[in-house]
Amino acid sequence: MSEAGEEISANKVVTFHYRLTDAEGELIESSEGQEPVAYLHGRNNIVPGLESGLRGRRAGDELTIGVAPEDAYGPRSASAVQRVPIKHLVRPGKLEAGRVVAVNTTEGPRRGTVLKVGRFNVDVDMNHPLAGRSLVFEVKVLDVRDATPEEIAHGHAHGPGGAHD
Ligand code: ZN
Repeated sequence: MSEAGEEISANKVVTFHYRLTDAEGELIESSEGQEPVAYLHGRNNIVPGLESGLRGRRAGDELTIGVAPEDAYGPRSASAVQRVPIKHLVRPGKLEAGRVVAVNTTEGPRRGTVLKVGRFNVDVDMNHPLAGRSLVFEVKVLDVRDATPEEIAHGHAHGPGGAHD
């Protein structure tokens, strides 16, 4: 247990539940019924608008944070829609519009969403699925604690809800 009243700041591990909707209130995802999320504050482990909205908050706080696309997954880019040879896909399997695939790029595999399937090529939207969208996070802060030296060295939270626990 952490001491009561610790403020969220750099090198704190924050555990929270969230509900993510778009600007119209449509549910996108939620941690309800699952392990809460744990992250190391100040290390860009969560979207920037959410991280800055949580700064200074404490365990027990419930808040709603609206995040513009530029503080979330960025604007949509038309040039991120690309025609890709099927042989550049990682294990393509059955291809159809809407499927998420991994494309081999010079920077390693990147995820994209199939728009259209041809005989040798697929049109893939490499934008993040939430790019260009305004997001609303309803957050309940469950715990705020000091990060361990190992967590600070790794740049992420360990333990339940964290990385490779
Ligand atoms: Zn680690």
